Amino acid sequence: MGIAIISPGRDVSIWVENITKIDKNIKVQVYPNINDLENVQAVILWQHPHGILETFPNLKLICSMGAGVDHILTDKKIPDHLPIVRIVDEKLTFSMTNYVVMGVLNFHRQTLRYLKDKQRRVWDMTNPEIPVRVGVMGAGELGGDIIEKLKFMGIDVVGLGNSPKKVLDYPYYDKTQTNEFLKAINVLVCMLPLTRETEGILNIDLFRKCNKGTYLINVARGKHLLEEDLLLAIEEGFISGALLDVFQKEPLPESHPFWTKEEIMITPHIASVTNPEAAAPQIVENYHRINKNLKLLNEIDRIKGY
Ligand code: NDP
Repeated sequence: MGIAIISPGRDVSIWVENITKIDKNIKVQVYPNINDLENVQAVILWQHPHGILETFPNLKLICSMGAGVDHILTDKKIPDHLPIVRIVDEKLTFSMTNYVVMGVLNFHRQTLRYLKDKQRRVWDMTNPEIPVRVGVMGAGELGGDIIEKLKFMGIDVVGLGNSPKKVLDYPYYDKTQTNEFLKAINVLVCMLPLTRETEGILNIDLFRKCNKGTYLINVARGKHLLEEDLLLAIEEGFISGALLDVFQKEPLPESHPFWTKEEIMITPHIASVTNPEAAAPQIVENYHRINKNLKLLNEIDRIKGY
């Protein structure tokens, strides 16, 4: 029995290598060359063709190649009984936290301003630091680490989550307190999973509840942000600028206004990329657990969608 990797257009040989290095008895097949359908007990997915999972009669487990599972749950043909696991990994967390810290510091220490000053040979020593109070929407695995590291650096930070929580060592708001959360901050980090509830959450209504001049960092999913609303919010002064790693359409089309908008810095969905060597052990572990009916690592809640 074995695993199939379905990630069209991507070279996954490093995944095959790392899985078989851990357990050479696992037969790994790679899409589109999956011939032995009966021998597939687990699949590893990234942007799979919808409906394809129905072709595996002995499928027991679905693994996401990344931290998010939105790309899997949009396939409405996945049987309800199949468990879905995702990647939680310290390397993934390390990169994400560093990216967000970079974004916060770029705003706090005004990197863009000094790049422009250099080009114009301007020596301007006024107001070198913008005081920041950061709010992380989605205080989960990744958001929680961002909060911890920013706190360690002495930066004021608060978190927002889905459900009420007690005994946290930072100010925490649940989603019913979003307005208070927004009023408490001037840097908004979106680290939410993409679900029915969070799609389009970064819209003009939310931006108009922010303090004027709030800086936005979106490292979650492109579909969280209504892109035209961001341009409007910048025009209206609620948002002063943004660092965006994810977009409604990727790659970002050449004609997109974000390319030329001075206040918006973009990166090509690289904030944190799954490292196959780091992720393979938990996939192999889950493969063995499903066969022994043991509790899985990093299983998502199909109802909540994350
Ligand atoms: P987790 O599941 O660990 O955390 C999700 C957090 O979001 C939890 O705190 C949860 O609250 C909160 N949340 C969920 N729904 C809502 C809501 N409606 N309102 C407010 N808070 C909500 O996920 P991770 O931290 O591991 O990952 C988050 C996302 O980051 C992934 O789903 C993925 O899309 C994205 N990502 C992007 C990458 C990139 O390179 N750009 C790389 C990796 C991940 P509660 O705790 O109460 O359940």
